Amino acid sequence: MSLQARLYIDGQWLDDAGDGQRPLIDPATEQVVGSVPLADAAHVDAAAASAARGFGVWRRTSALERSRVLARAAALMRERAPRMAADLCTEQGKPLAEALREVTLSADIVEFQAEEARRLYGRTVPPRVDGVLSHAVLREPVGPVAAFTAWNFPVNLPSRKLGAALAAGCSVVLKPAEETPTSAMHLVQCLLDAGLPPQAVQLVCGDPARVSSRLIAHRDIAKVSLTGSVAVGRLLAEQCARHDKRFAGELGGHAPVIVCGDADVDAVLKLAVPAKFRNAGQVCASPIRFIVARPLYARFVEGLAHAARALRLGAGHDPATQMGPLAHERRLQDMQQCADDARDQGATIVCGGRRAPRAGWFFEPTVITDAPDTSRVMREEPFGPIALVQPFDTLDDAIALANRRGQVTRYALAAYAFTRDLITAHRLGAELDAGMVGLNHFGVSQPELPFGGRGASGDGVEMGAEGLLAYTEMKTITVGAL
Ligand code: NAD
Repeated sequence: MSLQARLYIDGQWLDDAGDGQRPLIDPATEQVVGSVPLADAAHVDAAAASAARGFGVWRRTSALERSRVLARAAALMRERAPRMAADLCTEQGKPLAEALREVTLSADIVEFQAEEARRLYGRTVPPRVDGVLSHAVLREPVGPVAAFTAWNFPVNLPSRKLGAALAAGCSVVLKPAEETPTSAMHLVQCLLDAGLPPQAVQLVCGDPARVSSRLIAHRDIAKVSLTGSVAVGRLLAEQCARHDKRFAGELGGHAPVIVCGDADVDAVLKLAVPAKFRNAGQVCASPIRFIVARPLYARFVEGLAHAARALRLGAGHDPATQMGPLAHERRLQDMQQCADDARDQGATIVCGGRRAPRAGWFFEPTVITDAPDTSRVMREEPFGPIALVQPFDTLDDAIALANRRGQVTRYALAAYAFTRDLITAHRLGAELDAGMVGLNHFGVSQPELPFGGRGASGDGVEMGAEGLLAYTEMKTITVGAL
């Protein structure tokens, strides 16, 4: 299947944007399947200036009309889901069924924000003295947004940003990851076909560092939202501070999973295996550190390794595939370094730990025990199909092992726990240090719920009513009687 990505700048689809082409590679075969044009500085500037004009139009469009446009876009995404999912699968590698779920869930996200668009309420505050008529606190769209997204959810991540920003009345310059631009292109086309004013959205790709620094410095950009790594988050946050731009980072995670002694191991594994190896583990809220009550530990390790070994690896387009390749070659090298470093530091590789012996960027589903705190995989987000397992003796120990921000890891995005005891569940909900806590399931990412982290995981919030507010700023208007 061949892909031809295009950029969308100032109301035009472009096959050439001044900085050459970058090949698109199918991660399951390592074959070139298409290309994406790259934008030079002039095209990036044109996108920002056009977004400023688009903001002028879109912010004056009624909330009801904005809502209708987004609802129509969500309907078009569902209608076009098979085609969108097929291209997503080709450029990113995840199994087709996962890609299809991603597209339909993305439509739900856009639709939820379409509904929220009509509820951008402010409030009134009673004046404290006679002669003052009113105080009103309003929410206004923050302005043109520069949105940068990673390649692991090529439709979902742009949908989170575009859905909420457009619902609030902002315009957006979207820069998806250069590995997966076709998915973003389909999304933009759905919005345009739904009636979005052409300049309210722009789609650019290019050299990431050059494009982002140019956009952040551009006078027309008001806010920057990034979904990506902690390292790039820091870089962009510093640039934003220098240029007085608002910044929101949706960054990495290192999710712990506490499995208490009263949990049903088989039931936990039934949920944990697909959650861990979904999208080949390239999920920010993926379960990473399984912290298991000692009496269940051996059974848990054995069950997880058995299920990991049994997973069918293959191209996303093959309906038999349960886990696809990693999305690009850098991830493969990273996984190998993580596994080798853990082994060198005394950890046990129970299964996997190496590249799968076949074409494509496949890494074997991996289970590691006894990884020391000094190992890279304990300190940094592995972002791939690697699960770590360690035992615990008391609930206090388990919570201490889970909450290691500032000691071993820097992250606090998602945390999970399994128990049948109500009191323990409440304690875990209260004491786990994370932006999102899933008790007895892994479903923390829902269109209706705010999704975000703490610490190095970033301060951004997406989805839910809070996701919309992130693209607004407050204005207080107070009226005297004269
Ligand atoms: P990355 O930070 O390298 O890339 C993300 C985006 O930033 C891409 O658009 C990329 O082109 C751009 N970028 C890359 N280098 C840049 C630079 N020097 N200057 C400016 N922009 C640059 O991230 P990645 O490794 O491709 O993506 C994986 C990361 O994203 C993981 O850490 C993962 O946890 C995180 N993530 C977080 C969430 C969330 O909601 N919290 C969701 C998905 C992924």
